[in-house]
Amino acid sequence: MPYQKLQPESLMMSYGHKSGMARGAVKAPIYQTSTFAFETAEEGKDFFELAYSLREPLNGETPGMIYSRLDNPNLEILEKRLSLWDDAESCAVFASGMAAISTTVFEFLKPGDVLLYSSPLYGGTVHFITEVLTRFGIQVVPFYYDQQPEAILRQLKANHQAHRVAMIYLETPANPTNALIDIEAMSALARELSDKGRQVLTVVDNTYMGPLWQHPLQLGADLVLYSATKYIGGHSDVVAGAALGNKELIGRIKVLRTFFGSMASPYDAWLLTRSLETLKLRMEQQARNAQRVARFLQVHPMVDRVHYLGLLTEADGEQWRIYKRQCSAPGAMLAFDIKGGEKEAFAFLNNLKLVKLAVSLGSTESLAEHPATMTHAGISEEVLAEMGISEKLVRLSVGVENVRDLIADIEFALEKAAEVLEMEAVG
Ligand SMILES: *Cc1c(COP(=O)(O)O)cnc(C)c1O
Repeated sequence: MPYQKLQPESLMMSYGHKSGMARGAVKAPIYQTSTFAFETAEEGKDFFELAYSLREPLNGETPGMIYSRLDNPNLEILEKRLSLWDDAESCAVFASGMAAISTTVFEFLKPGDVLLYSSPLYGGTVHFITEVLTRFGIQVVPFYYDQQPEAILRQLKANHQAHRVAMIYLETPANPTNALIDIEAMSALARELSDKGRQVLTVVDNTYMGPLWQHPLQLGADLVLYSATKYIGGHSDVVAGAALGNKELIGRIKVLRTFFGSMASPYDAWLLTRSLETLKLRMEQQARNAQRVARFLQVHPMVDRVHYLGLLTEADGEQWRIYKRQCSAPGAMLAFDIKGGEKEAFAFLNNLKLVKLAVSLGSTESLAEHPATMTHAGISEEVLAEMGISEKLVRLSVGVENVRDLIADIEFALEKAAEVLEMEAVG
């Protein structure tokens, strides 16, 4: 074959594993081992020197395996394959998305630092930022999608916080409303806030769109994070996470991962390499289905408004412009405001048959949930209103099922919700 750079989907079946390494096995075995034997004591010494960065590697020298909290062949293969989708230099995989987030944030923040973060964020991340980080003397400052970088900078300066910002943490599109934040503009703000001795990092949780439809590292971000539980795993049978970026930053994160013990297990890493073989197929089918579902909802009399990137038009102004620059597809996550309120939303959810009533997202099966009382429960009414989350809002993660079956299921549940609305009007 003439040389050409192979696309990630062509490499997901074997990259990082040679059948010669394992008695001809086409698929990598599961290295279900906690520890690794050294050939000699000298080799053990070399491996530790490299693992703890006590010296630079000699020409072509690669660190060997020591202990599965530091590294394991299944983690190594998964990290190589995940790096391809975002064209990242390096990757670290974790026991969960929250493990990836907390390990990354702790590595780069210290008491006295300011963390600037976009709102809304995933509920677990909000709790970690506002309840845990603040206990360690870190100041946390939220901003909303419609605030311009210049206005954010003015506010930071007015509060004497600009010179202490250490990290800008973003989630875009935001869960569950699909509000977009301009990654390029926020990365530029991070560079403006940096000075000689202090690099302000831009970190993006790309779980909603990645690793297929949005590539934050190419837009200027320093680190990209995933809950691999979602699209990357894709079958609702594994909890895991990942961080990607340049070698230096990921190297630092891996050292803290070693001491937190927040790495993925060999078996979970193996499951994820299996999932990656069908990542593109799954995500493309999910996005096709989501577009059909969104168009169906948009004209349904029981639906007030659909929040879906595929329905943005030029009339949406800045959001449309960011979408066009930043995303290659509208994704498979949508939310909609049902007519009525919590009663109607619950009637809808209780009458779904094919779509499961569950949190999580990005999996082969479609899932529905009620953000105000489920994923975003515990957030004050005031903040929920600012995020655009009302009791009318229902979130859908669209799977790979036959789209006509999905729409029939949703249509039936909407009819049941309409009956509830009518009874309320009569009663
Ligand atoms: C699920 C999720 C997380 C947390 O990941 P876990 O794997 O559940 O720990 C973080 N961010 C986003 C956007 C998520 O959807």
